[in-house]
Amino acid sequence: MTGKRSNRPTTCDVPSVDIRSAGIRQNAVGAHVTCQGAQCDISITWTAPHFGGQRSWWKCPVCNERCAIVYFGTAVACRTCLGLAYATNRTTKASKPFARARNLRDRLQWPGGIISGNGTRPKGMHMATYAKRMSEMLQHLRGVMAFSVVSARRIQAKLKKMGID
Ligand SMILES: [Zn+2]
Repeated sequence: MTGKRSNRPTTCDVPSVDIRSAGIRQNAVGAHVTCQGAQCDISITWTAPHFGGQRSWWKCPVCNERCAIVYFGTAVACRTCLGLAYATNRTTKASKPFARARNLRDRLQWPGGIISGNGTRPKGMHMATYAKRMSEMLQHLRGVMAFSVVSARRIQAKLKKMGID
């Protein structure tokens, strides 16, 4: 996790409107969109997907390309125009050690999640296999710890900025 990259605003930092949940009427050519007090008239374009039906898209007011989500940032525009990073990149990366630890728990037949603590060697599992799984688990838990430390530091920094220590 590098500091430089995370300074770039992500799709989560800017209010947005997804056309799929905007209640667009069939064949509408535009909509008056309000988003957290801001408003904008946005053109709509339609495509015919292979599986049938019709799919609506916003026409980005800046580049005119079609997009599913418009962001109300420094301008009303698509993700690309506003230079927003995908928020999912961060989440996916962060959730990997969690997911791996959880999967490994299933293989070890340990109940619950990582906060449930460690279980014991499952019946019939060879000691060598168990040792291997445990060292894998250690790796995943280290990843979880590293992520938690970064998250905690971010919150600390935010609180400091707000004048709260
Ligand atoms: Zn655009």
